[in-house]
Amino acid sequence: MDSYDITIIGAGVSGIFAAHELAASGRKILLLDKGKKLEERTDRYIGFGGLGLSEGKYNFTNDFGGELERKTGYEAALTLMDDVDTILCEYGGGAAELYSTYDLELSERAREAGFGVLTTKTRHLGTKLSKVVLERMYDYLNAYITMKFESEPVRILRKDNGRFAIELPDETVIDSGQVIVATGRSGNDWLTGQCENLGIGRGEARVDLGLRIEMKGDQLASILQRSFETKLSFEGEDYTATTYCMNPRGRVVLKLQEGLAMPDGQNFREKEEGSSNLNFTLFVPNRFATLKEADDYLKHIVGGINRGRNRIAAQRLGSLRRGEEHCSGSKDNFKSVMPTLEAEFAELREEVPERYIEATLAFLSALEKLLGEPIDEDTILYAIDGKLYSPAIETSGRFETNIQGLYVIGDCSGTTHSLSQAAASGVYVGRLLAGKKV
Ligand SMILES: Cc1cc2nc3c(=O)[nH]c(=O)nc-3n(C[C@H](O)[C@H](O)[C@H](O)COP(=O)(O)OP(=O)(O)OC[C@H]3O[C@@H](n4cnc5c(N)ncnc54)[C@H](O)[C@@H]3O)c2cc1C
Repeated sequence: MDSYDITIIGAGVSGIFAAHELAASGRKILLLDKGKKLEERTDRYIGFGGLGLSEGKYNFTNDFGGELERKTGYEAALTLMDDVDTILCEYGGGAAELYSTYDLELSERAREAGFGVLTTKTRHLGTKLSKVVLERMYDYLNAYITMKFESEPVRILRKDNGRFAIELPDETVIDSGQVIVATGRSGNDWLTGQCENLGIGRGEARVDLGLRIEMKGDQLASILQRSFETKLSFEGEDYTATTYCMNPRGRVVLKLQEGLAMPDGQNFREKEEGSSNLNFTLFVPNRFATLKEADDYLKHIVGGINRGRNRIAAQRLGSLRRGEEHCSGSKDNFKSVMPTLEAEFAELREEVPERYIEATLAFLSALEKLLGEPIDEDTILYAIDGKLYSPAIETSGRFETNIQGLYVIGDCSGTTHSLSQAAASGVYVGRLLAGKKV
């Protein structure tokens, strides 16, 4: 039986950064992933790098992207994220510049118009540079630790001696002193099963839904004078709506996830030519007692719009406001906003629960006050973007579950929801287990 000091399950962002801290610690480390090695990856979500192979936008902030600060403390969370950035730069990430969205004057104006402004320092690697950084991290880790791919553990068992037995699909059993679970959102169902077996309780699940909004490229010019993008939050009667993934000059693209088709945003850097539009999603969170309930809600609403194919519904703001029959989005209509994603123009009130229509219209009316000008009626609203969060797992401030020696980090812990915070949770637990100063 192979024996390791520490086994990390999941070679996504959090698992890799934990492994990076542990690699040269003298501990014997195994890193397992159900997906493939980086160079063999065809799946966008699983395999070495996990979702770190996405657009790689690292937002170093406590304002959004998770609640890491609740575990580590506010300042320590920021320091850990700075350390993540230093590591990214060691492996070539510095080729993308670091920018800040902080703008005091805008924050004050926005507050007066009823918005909160969330700020961040950002290093946006983009897909190509993310891959370079991950390739270099892979080479570094390969020199120190054992990595095994296409290995989704069948079961994790706690042994009487306090160590763990990890049963692999090829019927080998790994003996490990400690286990770090870092399986992200793609490991949700698997982790639910392991938690049931091990007697670890899970908290409420969350799913955010919202329309992706595509507007004229210069529509937000008066609030984007000093920063490339902004993140606004807006309080309604029974919801908080928050802008997500703002892409000036970007495109709306199709996101295929869990058998569902959703409108997603693509940064202009991902294509040779940007667009003349700006897009973002306005997310409204919903909370459920179980992951299954959250998942069913997402599938019911998005699946209903998709109608068994990759159908995205859309409507112009003017027609939605007037409650008119939909008007076509065809390029022949000489509209001031041309759709960058093919969508079926429809009456969104017949496709989307009123909650999201109401939140979008209220947000856009408040935004008009902040901008001091109307939002163009040709603005396109696409239905519907969704983000499913892993339900929280009860852990200590050290990310340790009620099973001593079993840690849960990154998005599967329910504590982080972003690259930077997931990576920082890996750095944090990696350092703790390596006996380094945190
Ligand atoms: C399309 C998309 C784009 C995103 N873009 C951004 C962005 O630009 N900026 C940002 O901050 N956040 C972004 N996010 C969120 C961000 O990607 C995640 O918060 C982050 O990747 C979480 O890191 P993680 O290590 O917890 O999980 P992941 O990166 O998802 O890694 C999990 C790993 O575990 C493996 N795994 C899963 N189950 C098992 C199992 N049972 N056994 C073994 N291995 C398993 C997977 O193969 C994967 O490698 C995006 C999310 C999505 C869906």
